[in-house]
Amino acid sequence: MTVRPLPTPASVHSWLAQPRRMLIGGAWVSAVSGETFETLNPATGQPITAVPSADAADVDAAVRAARAAFDSGPWRQMSPSERGKRLWALADLVERHAGELAALERLDSGKPQLMAQAVDLPATVDILRYMAGWATKLEGRTVPLSVPYAPGAQFHAYTVREPVGVVGQIIPWNFPAMMAAMKLGPALAAGCTVVLKPAEETPLSALRLGELVCEAGFPDGVVNVVTGFGERAGAALAAHPGVDKVAFTGSTEVGRLIVRAASHDLKRVSLELGGKSPNILLEDADLEAAMPAAAAAIFFNQGECCTAGSLLYVHRRHFDRVLEGVAAAARAIPVGPGDSPSSQMGPLVSEAHRTRVLGYLESGRTEGAVTVAGGSGLPGPGFFLQPTVLAQTRPGMRVMDEEIFGPVVCAVPFDDPGEVVAAANRSRFGLAAAVWTRDVSRAHRLAAALRAGTVWVNCYNILDAALPFGGARQSGWGREMGEEALALYTETKSVCVQI
Ligand code: ADP
Repeated sequence: MTVRPLPTPASVHSWLAQPRRMLIGGAWVSAVSGETFETLNPATGQPITAVPSADAADVDAAVRAARAAFDSGPWRQMSPSERGKRLWALADLVERHAGELAALERLDSGKPQLMAQAVDLPATVDILRYMAGWATKLEGRTVPLSVPYAPGAQFHAYTVREPVGVVGQIIPWNFPAMMAAMKLGPALAAGCTVVLKPAEETPLSALRLGELVCEAGFPDGVVNVVTGFGERAGAALAAHPGVDKVAFTGSTEVGRLIVRAASHDLKRVSLELGGKSPNILLEDADLEAAMPAAAAAIFFNQGECCTAGSLLYVHRRHFDRVLEGVAAAARAIPVGPGDSPSSQMGPLVSEAHRTRVLGYLESGRTEGAVTVAGGSGLPGPGFFLQPTVLAQTRPGMRVMDEEIFGPVVCAVPFDDPGEVVAAANRSRFGLAAAVWTRDVSRAHRLAAALRAGTVWVNCYNILDAALPFGGARQSGWGREMGEEALALYTETKSVCVQI
């Protein structure tokens, strides 16, 4: 039986048929240079459409628009409740257009459309609604002072939380709309203005979100969307003197470049970077639950997740069984174009990225790893790759130590969980970790011992708008989501009044 592809909404066809422009100061504009670049469909390798290729001049225009909107626009005068209402309106619009946005995500990133519809879009809406609620809750506190060198004097002191200002937000291609929401939500709730730069691989949903931002009633210049390449548009944004803060999600390598660019004028910087997350199945793990979850932990979203469970540590007693179970799951995953309702894994985002992942597989083989499932690209158009399970990997191998950002898991047996924790804590990454056990005390002990931004127990990849998310060590600076996300976009002012 042939499976009929999911229909692309007619509105997406007509949207793509029009020339795409970027959003600067409330107007839809081409790049000053007139340059454009094509964004490709990873399932076919064919161009979808062309978008403006921003350079420093466009970034400058966008930052000026954001600056004007922050310094003198109606945004600063707007009540917190009005800001919150606009964010909520944006969430409603995203929800109403979720089908369209899911189709754009599939076209641009390759991910299965049903996955985008089931995961990315509901999460995007939820993050915007959660952050809408924070707009009215950013309170300071009153502070009792002692001032030992001013005996007898009386003061009334309090703090206020003010928006940090103009924010440059640079996001990756793996969850384009959701990443935009993770960045825009808290920044707008806090009263900042934004220049958002989506990844060059996936500019489309951010442009569509820009339209919905306008429809939701945000004043001109509060949100600007510039499309362009990292080393041109992204670098210009990270270094621009009119930007008060840069928020970045992407690779650790580019994170370092962002820090360097932002160091000139000591901008505030928050970073959500790479990971190499251990998923640890202890001797008493519920294997029926843990095995499919271990496969999903790495293969969800083509393994293109910073939190991917790419190091599968299994107690030696269960190792052979789990290795075979996860390998069988890998072999059974339907890999195919994202518009097929049966696809559970789409292509990787680009030919360059697939080449990079294949390079890791080659280096693994050269260094002695054994391929238990998958291990190669798939023929035909598109950038498909087999879900891959490697065994006999050791620390020191690149596949064990570096972030692959693809559907590749290293399965490693252990005898002593303490050794696994020590290895995890030695890693330069510290984004996430998971532990599977039936022993509650052990679960909490390990959760305490693992130095990572998130530890999951008996689950994996559970992210929520209310739960802080971010990394230790070279996995990043700061926490997004939850109340902590607001801290990234506010500065505390202390006011001291002598009475
Ligand atoms: P990935 O390796 O997952 O593609 P990157 O870290 O390269 O992730 O890209 C994430 C985002 O960072 C993208 O929006 C990209 O355009 C941007 N970017 C890449 N290089 C730079 C740079 N030198 N300065 C600023 N942004 C950059």
